Amino acid sequence: MKQKNIHSPAFKRITVTDPLFSHYTSIVAEKLIPYQWNVLNDCEPDTEKSFCVANFRIAAGEMEGSHRGMVFSDTDLYKWIETLAYCLERGEALEYKAHAEEMIELISRAQESDGYVNTYFSVNCPDRKWTNFTEGHELYSAGHLIEAAVAYFHATGNRHLLEVACRFADLIYIKFTSGGEFENACPGHQEIELALMKLSDCTGEKKYADLARHFLAVRGNSSRFLEKNLRDQGRNRIFPEFADYDARYAQSHLPPAEQTTAEGHAVRAMYMFSAMADVARTYGDDALVESCVRLWNNLTQKRMYITGGIGSSGYLERFTVDYDLPNDRMYCESCASVGLMMFGQRMAALTGDATYYDAVELALCNTVLAGIAAEGDKYFYVNPLEVWPDNCLTGTSMAHVKPVRQPWFACACCPANIARTLASLGQYIYAQDEKSVYINQYISSELCSDVRGAEISIKLHSDLLTDGKIQILIGSDKSQPFTLRIRIPSYLKNPAFLFNGKAITPVIENGYAVIAISREGEQVLEMQGSVAPNWMAANAKVRADAGKIALMYGPYVYCFEEADNGSGLPLLYASGSSCAVPDAPAEGLPGSMPTLVVQGKRLDSGVGDALYGSPSFRLSDVELKAVPYALWCNRTPGEMIVWLNAVVP
Ligand SMILES: [Zn+2]
Repeated sequence: MKQKNIHSPAFKRITVTDPLFSHYTSIVAEKLIPYQWNVLNDCEPDTEKSFCVANFRIAAGEMEGSHRGMVFSDTDLYKWIETLAYCLERGEALEYKAHAEEMIELISRAQESDGYVNTYFSVNCPDRKWTNFTEGHELYSAGHLIEAAVAYFHATGNRHLLEVACRFADLIYIKFTSGGEFENACPGHQEIELALMKLSDCTGEKKYADLARHFLAVRGNSSRFLEKNLRDQGRNRIFPEFADYDARYAQSHLPPAEQTTAEGHAVRAMYMFSAMADVARTYGDDALVESCVRLWNNLTQKRMYITGGIGSSGYLERFTVDYDLPNDRMYCESCASVGLMMFGQRMAALTGDATYYDAVELALCNTVLAGIAAEGDKYFYVNPLEVWPDNCLTGTSMAHVKPVRQPWFACACCPANIARTLASLGQYIYAQDEKSVYINQYISSELCSDVRGAEISIKLHSDLLTDGKIQILIGSDKSQPFTLRIRIPSYLKNPAFLFNGKAITPVIENGYAVIAISREGEQVLEMQGSVAPNWMAANAKVRADAGKIALMYGPYVYCFEEADNGSGLPLLYASGSSCAVPDAPAEGLPGSMPTLVVQGKRLDSGVGDALYGSPSFRLSDVELKAVPYALWCNRTPGEMIVWLNAVVP
């Protein structure tokens, strides 16, 4: 496969203007950064303690005590720095720059003389460094350090954290590559692989990419490294649930290039698949490209929720089998959908194919946005498609499902992952290569960039949901030709194009309409299609959705909440041929997304107050109201359901 050079433009040159998304991108700088800063420093009242900054102070020898919190809690600070870097790059949250630099100094003081950084092992058990690859998360934490360092360097030019990260990466290179102490070891939680690819891009050092490739190459060989390593831990085991550990859990059951199905822990899988796509592109590795395509197809055609959520099993947060998509007890971790966005973005960069962005869009517009409260200070870790708050009980198999967003988590991966995704949202909207600018998401925004020596500007105004229309103002300071590639989303029907007021029929290539731009000054491209609310059914093999329908409007899945429809939502029915009529946005929700009104039915079984009785079914007419799933649980909490019973003709 010919190597493509599709990459993201600089974040500082992208401004999100969309009413819904700009609400979320602005709260990252205004609320998330300050809120998460307080949490990391354990000074946010009524919130689970993080111990994160304290752990670094102890590791640096500046405070007494032992490490507290999860073994990978260092990553909460790294992700905060990464998120802040994206804000700083756009000129936001500048008042937190001094805090970040104070933290970078602290991290460098916590770094050991050989380059090692990990507060859990440095403080609590220095004799067990590099012994527990399956549970210890040292390489995972190093990955987030590297990602933060690259982002901070790009945003500010400050090299200090990058130097810390490179020293650690150099140590890992010596220990883990051929001839090193741990040449057969692979990470128990992938992440460092994709981070090393970023570090290689940022520094120009090929050895970091080689190390990423090495980590993929040693994974899943016949030595069953991770399972053996876990058995060797004896009394030093960290996670009790790993009693049921198997090679599939961390995708080490087969070499990555031979894997055909998305298996195991969903976040680990997404981070590894993302790295595979990066490595495949950099090294022109066709076997890896083929496995990425197979894995993507299995993931999105057989194992993904309509909301872009992934991970069907609450237990061990993992994939199960094709078409097993239960709606109330699944996992659908926010981080896993962030990972799906990362994988899809890389597949599009690898292949130049726009259709990968369909699933990226589903994940973003549904599960990732649902993961954060409209106010920005509460989060879902698990994203159900059906909630009955009464049975979300601790000590049961539903304990992982929370009916309301939580202020923080002992394992706090999701809030920080959502934050860094929203702070860098522009990377999912635009991409470019030597001669093209790609528009991948219809989120109103502005871009300035250089293409072939010309300074160009794009102003994207999207009214896709209200009237199926997109307007793009294109400016260029030279008559240098370039192409604009605009993704045709799968839900946009019959798109027609006007270029400077004249109808055109552009070539459609890999899911993009290709428009040649060849003159300076401002030009106008309009795309007009139809987008209407749409009922969806699932494949007959999805048992959980048998006889059910879900409502979508463009990429947005809609849901029915108790606040609008009363309790007992599983008793509601609608016909797949009924009209869903857009109505005024629900009060108190951000953006201006319409509600959808449906004439439906409510079932009465005739059993009354008895637990069981003879059926005497009766359907009565009711008006149902649906709101975007992304915005659920931002009003009075209660029941929620995505899949309604279908009135079958
Ligand atoms: Zn998470």
